[in-house]
Amino acid sequence: MFPAAKPAIGPAIDDGFYYDFDMDSPFTPEDLTAIEKKMSEIIKKNNPFVRKNIPKKDAIDLFKKMGEDYKVELISEIADEEMSIYEEGGFVDLCRGPHVFSTGAIKAFKLLSIAGAYWRGNEKNKMLQRIYGTAYDSKEKLKEHLDFLEEVKKRDHRKLGKELDLFSVSEDIGPGLILWHPNGAIIRKTIEDFWRDEHYKADYKLLYSPHIAKLNLWQKSGHLDFYRENMYSPMEIEGVDYELKPMNCPFHISVYKSSLRSYREFPVRYAELGTVYRYERSGVLHGLLRVRGFTQDDAHIFCREDQMEDEILNILDFTLFILKTFGFDSYDVYLSTRPEKYVGTQENWEKATNALRQALEKKGLSYQVDPGEGVFYGPKIDIKIKDSLNRYWQCSTIQVDFNNPERFDINFRGSDGKDHRPIMIHRALMGSLERFFGVLIEHYAGIFPLWLAPVQIGIITIAERHSDYALGIARSLKAEGLRVETNLENEKIGHKIREATIRKVPYLVIIGDKEIAEGKLTVRKRSGENIGPFTVEEFTGVIKSEIKNKK
Ligand code: ZN
Repeated sequence: MFPAAKPAIGPAIDDGFYYDFDMDSPFTPEDLTAIEKKMSEIIKKNNPFVRKNIPKKDAIDLFKKMGEDYKVELISEIADEEMSIYEEGGFVDLCRGPHVFSTGAIKAFKLLSIAGAYWRGNEKNKMLQRIYGTAYDSKEKLKEHLDFLEEVKKRDHRKLGKELDLFSVSEDIGPGLILWHPNGAIIRKTIEDFWRDEHYKADYKLLYSPHIAKLNLWQKSGHLDFYRENMYSPMEIEGVDYELKPMNCPFHISVYKSSLRSYREFPVRYAELGTVYRYERSGVLHGLLRVRGFTQDDAHIFCREDQMEDEILNILDFTLFILKTFGFDSYDVYLSTRPEKYVGTQENWEKATNALRQALEKKGLSYQVDPGEGVFYGPKIDIKIKDSLNRYWQCSTIQVDFNNPERFDINFRGSDGKDHRPIMIHRALMGSLERFFGVLIEHYAGIFPLWLAPVQIGIITIAERHSDYALGIARSLKAEGLRVETNLENEKIGHKIREATIRKVPYLVIIGDKEIAEGKLTVRKRSGENIGPFTVEEFTGVIKSEIKNKK
């Protein structure tokens, strides 16, 4: 159908597949319909897929002859001496397989979307045309998946972010840099207040640190060696190079080192909502989920070796408590072990990995081992939370670090009067506030629980003569620390209710003659259900207890 199209790469992905083609012009939605029709014809023919293993040299010759430069490039980079190709009805493709035996096995499929994609994801390469699709062995399963995709689209945090006026990204500011609008900012403040309060209760000490530091610091920390491609170019201040911070760790270490530490004050727990800047290619930036500047809910714990396991247990409890507050009580847990490139001794790696493993087992958390996926400086636990659409998101991480205590030569005075190296643990619960907020928006579908809702109570009037009374109610609710908005506009009541419903305001108080005469409030919940009548004091009590319980 498209003789000039050069097939590039076309892998299976989690919930379907895509295929990139080099084309002169992009595919259109009409093209997809036509391709689907052709696919149905091929499926009907029930053509077999025939696998052949051929020597690498022959594979290169074959695809060269076909003019398929992308395949030739791919083959030349594969180390194997033999390549597998699949043939179907005269179409030959390079593929590792496996395949279904014949086209008739495909019972249901759908081409979903078109997108531009750079060859190998690199913006310096040519832009290719990508087709996304999916296939199932039954029509029912396909429908279920399409319904799910519809729900995902409805909940897209970029769409809801606009509708609910939560945040934006501006071309003037730069891609991947988030502007928190008042509605988003009040949610963030509520999350931060909760986070700080709980950290104080859990014996953490809070820190603030600057956004830049001397380039030398990042040399010392090892980031320039291990992390340079994620860092921005240095800037010069009075002849000295400075660098935007990609991590908070060295700052916390500096605070630790600012005085002599004794075993008596251990464990030392420093926490910070620390903003970091990391380079991401513009092609992978995505709303709040992949950004260039974000705030980590970071903490660093310095402890003795014999305290390590208890600390990890504490962190696990703390993490699960925080996540549960946001309605996440299912997760996948991963234990990542020593990678090929690492620092520290094998013995220390063993000890730390065991401490992480034992903490998980004591908590009765089932986990999977990710062999070799640890960070170069130590093993880690990662927690992926499951949202209300059963999607998993990587947020929390707990990492043991042998590198920084050595590099920065940090010590504590032990009970023996001698200096010892502490164990350092890095951990983040929500990960990045930006990303976590994106996940929350989609998890709640924008219907934030009362304690997080930007506007908690909307007060609307039936007629103009009710305005003064409504303002009085608003004042007393605001005085109780509640987030209240009044709508006194001269509009039909139905219109005002609709407007508040679109904005997902949890409670609506409607003021008319009856309410004023009786001195009682009838309250309409976001679901449409009416509760009450309440006196103002009763209503305040109901709301405040719901907020206290983080509902
Ligand atoms: Zn750290």
